Amino acid sequence: MKDEAVTTESLNNLEDMRSKKIIFVCNCLLNSNNKVMERARYPGIFSDVVKIIDSFGIGIMQLPCPEMLYSGCQRYWGGKNVFESAGYRKFCRTLAAQVADYMENYHMAGYQVVCVLGCDGSPTCGVHFTNHYENGGGRPKAIQRSLLEEPGIFIEELKRELEARNLPVPKMDGLGMDIMAKSTDEILADFKAYIAQVV
Ligand code: SF4
Repeated sequence: MKDEAVTTESLNNLEDMRSKKIIFVCNCLLNSNNKVMERARYPGIFSDVVKIIDSFGIGIMQLPCPEMLYSGCQRYWGGKNVFESAGYRKFCRTLAAQVADYMENYHMAGYQVVCVLGCDGSPTCGVHFTNHYENGGGRPKAIQRSLLEEPGIFIEELKRELEARNLPVPKMDGLGMDIMAKSTDEILADFKAYIAQVV
């Protein structure tokens, strides 16, 4: 096989096929595995939409999936009224800033961001329509709940943070407020017994 001589001139003569046109698409258009449970319409890629985009010679940028990153892929659906919170807003703003960086770079180079293709009906990626559940949503059917003997995420992170700083981890207890079988009286009795030991 003969080596091809690469010169500046030969590189300059390369034909660059790019269209300089980009569509930003919501993440699940290219990966339905990130949808909330029971809402995926296709196994992986919404390929019919991709084919249409491709027929115009437009490149695709996949937006991040804020819900998947924030709540994982085993979540059920909720209304915008459920997601609306300072923390989720801040999280989305951080992700949006990076997307805006991409757009800014394209803009600086004279490329055309043809459009952003969101997902109507989504509390996160809806463009024209988002949703609202009067009762909050998130519980499509009776689901089995079990109690695991381990801390919740925030408590785990708090312990980790304290340990990382070599600070003493205080004693911890949990009021059984989300243990449905416990009456308020039992919760109060448990707490009285606990606090008496630790003061
Ligand atoms: S948050 Fe957006 S990208 Fe993620 S599944 Fe919902 S609509 Fe798709």
